Amino acid sequence: MRTVGHFIGGREVEGRSGRYAEIFQPMTGEVIGRVGLASRDEMRAAVENAAAAQPAWAATNPQRRARIMMKFLDLVAREMDSLADLLAREHGKTVPDARGDIQRGVEVVEFACGIPHLQKGEYTEGAGPGIDMYSMRQPLGVVAGITPFNFPAMIPMWKFAPAIACGNAFILKPSERDPGVPMRLAELMIEAGLPAGILNVVNGDKEAVDAILDDADIRAVGFVGSSSIAEYVYSRAAATGKRAQCFGGAKNHMIIMPDADLDQAVDALVGAGYGSAGERCMAISVAVPVGEATADALMSKLVPRVESLKIGLSTDPSADLGPLVTKAHLDKVRSYVDIGVQEGAELVVDGRNFRMQGYENGFYMGGCLFDRVTADMRIYKEEIFGPVLSVVRAKDYTEALRLPNEHEYGNGVAIYTRDGDAARDFAAKVNVGMVGINVPIPVPLAYYTFGGWKRSGFGDLNQHGPDAVRFYTKTKTVTSRWPSGIKDGASFVIPTMQ
Ligand code: NAD
Repeated sequence: MRTVGHFIGGREVEGRSGRYAEIFQPMTGEVIGRVGLASRDEMRAAVENAAAAQPAWAATNPQRRARIMMKFLDLVAREMDSLADLLAREHGKTVPDARGDIQRGVEVVEFACGIPHLQKGEYTEGAGPGIDMYSMRQPLGVVAGITPFNFPAMIPMWKFAPAIACGNAFILKPSERDPGVPMRLAELMIEAGLPAGILNVVNGDKEAVDAILDDADIRAVGFVGSSSIAEYVYSRAAATGKRAQCFGGAKNHMIIMPDADLDQAVDALVGAGYGSAGERCMAISVAVPVGEATADALMSKLVPRVESLKIGLSTDPSADLGPLVTKAHLDKVRSYVDIGVQEGAELVVDGRNFRMQGYENGFYMGGCLFDRVTADMRIYKEEIFGPVLSVVRAKDYTEALRLPNEHEYGNGVAIYTRDGDAARDFAAKVNVGMVGINVPIPVPLAYYTFGGWKRSGFGDLNQHGPDAVRFYTKTKTVTSRWPSGIKDGASFVIPTMQ
């Protein structure tokens, strides 16, 4: 059985706190390893290491920094199969989906390869008499990322690639549930030529997170996880003067207009609702057909598709979805289905009792589908994060639009329609950060930015894209004049450029 330590100073080191978390293989339910949970002292050792290495890295020219990213891309491509296998075994998602997890992270590394261009400042010649003005974007120093279990490759790369490309040193605190891939990515960064100390992986739980939040040498924190912890991290990080961008949970709606192609809408709902067992922050968890006729027609097509979902081993490439991440999470999701039944929603497909033959200890459940869910029910208001889709019937477009607008989460949303006017109106008026028009999972590409609204995101800059460069750098603006441009005499008036 493997014991995962930490990655500090360019190599794996053993955990010394004496505290560990078990690592499960969800498809069998077995414990396959344990991971050290860092103490404050171990976190401090990583920060000191990072702080010592960072100035030389910041002084490395941006093309050289970019070349290390390019080399890293080659190494990830070389190891794609083994990384995807490791990811699927620790997380539970299928191997093809694990490849997607890695690929969406890789795309942000590709974006970060443009850092020589992205980090350029601005210059104005002759901003005043004899005066030139320019700005530069300098790295912050040591920065940290705290990431969730559900994208153990993508989200760490979203965090560390732009931060490191900008000249920062990075402390990654990945989820303790699937630390294998983040550790391997750090090794590959070193193999690609990254100096020791610039990327550190410190595994742990709340103690490690609090050590990050209280450490005065960490200048920025990027968090992704559930909303209550996102809010906690945001406020505690702000209290110690750090920049913070903290992304939280979601309840993503898909509106199905009467003119939508229902076959396309059903394909979208099964893929986006049940893929990765619903453990995606951009999963569709609420379907909103508009009008009773649309709802009835949708249900007649959707029910057999949910009933026939193929649940399988994470290593079975033909499976639609694999198991959930842990037994505790499986129990939580099942209990939400019980709550929905008690609340009076119609459970039209019940996957609670699904057992995987030969793998009875695995964390599997079948797809569940609720009809006639209402906005006052807990299964509508709260994030379930499992293979459970709720159908809320809306009488018209106005009522459908009001649902995501009034929901406390605002991560993603989609509309299925052939009507350009309706789609345009929806995109303009919906109070949600990422919108899909006939696209169920509108995760923006690496060169745009990713971020939800309301309780799905705390902080003002999004992840990846140009916002990441802003988040991980501070702007310095220089106003310069040479002696020949200086007129005699003291001036007691605020300088103007008349
Ligand atoms: P989580 O909140 O349990 O954990 C996230 C991170 O916080 C982990 O690194 C964990 O170790 C740490 N943590 C856990 N409890 C803590 C505590 N009490 N104090 C301090 N730190 C703590 O989330 P998860 O279960 O790993 O991930 C699922 C959640 O992440 C879902 O809510 C999902 O919607 C959300 N998510 C959001 C996005 C987004 O971009 N908005 C993306 C992916 C996942």
